[in-house]
Amino acid sequence: MRTFLLFILVLVAPRGFSVEFAAPSRPIIIAHRGASGYLPEHTLEAKVAAHVMGADYLEQDLVLSKDGVPVVLHDIYIDTVTDVAERFPDRKRADGRYYAIDFTLVELKQLKVTERFNPKTRQAVFKNRFPVWQSAFQIPTFEEEIQLIQGLNKSSGREAGIYPEIKAPAWHRKQGQDISKMVLPILDRYGYRTKADKIYLQCFEHEEVKRLRTELGYRGRLIQLLDNEPENQFLRTRAGLEQVAKVADGIGPAIPFVVSAGTNGTYQVSDLVTNAHALKLEVHPFTFRAEDLPKYASSLEELFRIFLVEIRVDGVFTDFPDRGVAFLRAQQNVR
Ligand code: CA
Repeated sequence: MRTFLLFILVLVAPRGFSVEFAAPSRPIIIAHRGASGYLPEHTLEAKVAAHVMGADYLEQDLVLSKDGVPVVLHDIYIDTVTDVAERFPDRKRADGRYYAIDFTLVELKQLKVTERFNPKTRQAVFKNRFPVWQSAFQIPTFEEEIQLIQGLNKSSGREAGIYPEIKAPAWHRKQGQDISKMVLPILDRYGYRTKADKIYLQCFEHEEVKRLRTELGYRGRLIQLLDNEPENQFLRTRAGLEQVAKVADGIGPAIPFVVSAGTNGTYQVSDLVTNAHALKLEVHPFTFRAEDLPKYASSLEELFRIFLVEIRVDGVFTDFPDRGVAFLRAQQNVR
């Protein structure tokens, strides 16, 4: 009887709806470091913009301060987005870099945050984005950002989720700090506990993904990120994905692992998404940027079409969440 009902369900289900697959019925737009195409990454201002633009999830990259407070920063370094070299010139390490973990929260709060720049040339990484050193921005703590998002969820009546990343857990341990142990109690306190809650927790290091699920007892949705590190090369294989599926709910691969560029604007789709979907893993590739398009896509919208319509990934990380939301709305109108 159950099999028969399932069969009927499959017959009447609209195209693209899978009975077995627990992923959301519509792909999600993840604001990569906030609306970072418009405002300096990981500022509260960039998160407000992303929320108002209608992003489904807002990303937080997390590192620890010297006093163990999770703050929202993409790098373990702070010399790519702040004036630390001017304010604390004698606090760099032997390698010439300034590290968030060498500064207390009080000190980090004294820094001026700006659009990302190259610390050697002092030039903006993305020339057409928000001007470097213009206006006043600060490094937010993870808690400050959650409070802001939950406030906007209430006032707008639309619940955007959070998408925090545990950055460099092995490196943090070498510095004598356990970042996951500092982040998980905050998630618990703000109600991000189960797979029904609007959170995806993400990490590149597979050992830490396993640890979060087992030793540390995290029960919410978990994403294994995939980059070019040697351990990740195995994880991208069918056998590797099976290993991932034991602990995680999805993968976050870099764009070239899903689609590779051929000659004359052609492209090839790898079997990564097919394999992941067969294991009921969601797929959220990164990063969709208007200024950084692969050769086979003439516009950001064309890139969205290839991934969201043709390959049917479950979400995308984009610096331009407004354009992702507009693309999905246009798709719904077409149907
Ligand atoms: Ca990230």
